[in-house]
Amino acid sequence: MINLILGENVSEFEKSVNEVVNLVETRAGEIDRNNEMDKLVIEELFENGLMGVMAPTRHGGLGLSYVDACRIIEKLATVSPSVAHSVFVHNMAVNAILKFGNEEQKDRYLPSLVSEKLGAVAITEPSGGSDVANAVRLRAVKGGNEYILNGTKMFITNATHAEFFITTARTGSGKEGLTTFIVEREDGVKVKKLDTGGMRGSGLGTIRFVDAEVPADNILVKEGKGLKVALSTLSPSRLLFSAVGLGIAESCFNHALSYAKKRESFGNKIVSFQAIQFMLADIATGIEVTRAFISHVAELADSNDITVLASMAKLRSAELAKKASDIAVELHGGYGILSNTYVERAYRDAKTLDIAEGTSEMMKLIISRALL
Ligand SMILES: Cc1cc2nc3c(=O)[nH]c(=O)nc-3n(C[C@H](O)[C@H](O)[C@H](O)COP(=O)(O)OP(=O)(O)OC[C@H]3O[C@@H](n4cnc5c(N)ncnc54)[C@H](O)[C@@H]3O)c2cc1C
Repeated sequence: MINLILGENVSEFEKSVNEVVNLVETRAGEIDRNNEMDKLVIEELFENGLMGVMAPTRHGGLGLSYVDACRIIEKLATVSPSVAHSVFVHNMAVNAILKFGNEEQKDRYLPSLVSEKLGAVAITEPSGGSDVANAVRLRAVKGGNEYILNGTKMFITNATHAEFFITTARTGSGKEGLTTFIVEREDGVKVKKLDTGGMRGSGLGTIRFVDAEVPADNILVKEGKGLKVALSTLSPSRLLFSAVGLGIAESCFNHALSYAKKRESFGNKIVSFQAIQFMLADIATGIEVTRAFISHVAELADSNDITVLASMAKLRSAELAKKASDIAVELHGGYGILSNTYVERAYRDAKTLDIAEGTSEMMKLIISRALL
């Protein structure tokens, strides 16, 4: 059970989080089936402050910590990993403006981003996501007080419904030739939804910038600092993503245990077989260890560089989510592969944890570079 640490308004806020989670649970199957974001769900997420979890209250956010943000994301993932994914990516866009935006950009964009308009972070391109420094081809050419953007971003969460995109473009050559822009949808952005196997309904899409005119004032930090902004935005977001994996594992465990207590085989409940008990023991252990590690990293995240620890959390959590969803499907036997149950969706969603926000190989690369 999630116990948010929020001071005096605990019960009211917890109640509203629970209400949103309940709503998401009723919609999760349809979101997956239609591969479509749910407008009512998005409205309720904004209405209840979940789209500005860490933004300070003076910008209209809840001003909560990474510890609380992780718990909220985890809880959403227990009913819909896809919605949890959208929420953390949106908060990632908010956090990028909070961390790298100037006061004018914060005043201009944060009020609507935390209250009504969806955001996305667009770094990956058809030419690659792992090697950001070399793969970015989106060109931004300066003309007077604006830049003209042309190119394509790929696999962008929230793309279908986002009004604002934090995107990395090429303004020069090499690592110093990348720049981050806040682009408004109406500036000249064309979006195409992607049909996916996992995280369906998280608005995943391809974005084409066609002569998109973006004011020079919309650059985060300054020209040439795009790689630093991209990497620093991704790093803490991996911690939030690890909370998605934890939520998946927790829910898969609960579904598996509950089914194993009911299902009979050879005249016994299947939970009475030691082989089954060992599988459950394995997931339960993984959940406790991963939760403790995520909490530890989250406590450090508000005021420390957590690049390596967040990579470890994401790596660990992806492994756990895959294993837990695999076991949950297996314990359900044939029923486990019937379409659109939580465990069947989780099985598909869990694999994306290996890929999105940097692949597991990239997490190992970050960790090993720090060790060597
Ligand atoms: C559901 C989902 C949501 C996503 N959301 C977003 C989003 O909101 N914004 C965004 O910008 N991107 C997003 N992405 C894209 C994601 O970040 C990229 O897919 C990911 O970074 C990998 O990039 P790639 O697909 O181009 O694979 P590549 O970079 O082409 O890699 C292909 C394979 O080669 C491996 N590899 C590459 N280099 C090395 C190396 N040096 N050593 C060992 N192995 C290596 C990789 O690990 C991978 O297995 C999302 C992806 C998914 C699946």
